Amino acid sequence: MTQRRSGLQCPLCRESFALDWRRYFRSPFGRHTCPSCEGRSRLAFSLAYVLFVGGAVALFAAATVGVAIWVWLRHDVAPPTWYVPIAGLVGIALLMPLDRWAGERLRPLVPIAGGTTTPPMQ
Ligand SMILES: [Zn+2]
Repeated sequence: MTQRRSGLQCPLCRESFALDWRRYFRSPFGRHTCPSCEGRSRLAFSLAYVLFVGGAVALFAAATVGVAIWVWLRHDVAPPTWYVPIAGLVGIALLMPLDRWAGERLRPLVPIAGGTTTPPMQ
């Protein structure tokens, strides 16, 4: 098994670069420009990524519903109406770092057809 470097690897020139927050927010659709060869590539989905992030979303949704049921059973009142949007914001705040982390490790970069005019080095 080969050592897996953290970070994204350009499929054109094999340069590794980090999926930092700036890069993450600038490419909501997972399209990235290599800092070395300026080739365009996009993040492909992988089964591991889908299972990991899908599992995290499912866990968070289950926890959200669980807390609502717990409040309802304990205090005999439904959670306040702001509960859902607040839970949604908390979910985004928790899941975005996870998505970035998993995207960097579990999603391979694949070239975009015609995405570069620079030939790969070597
Ligand atoms: Zn490159």
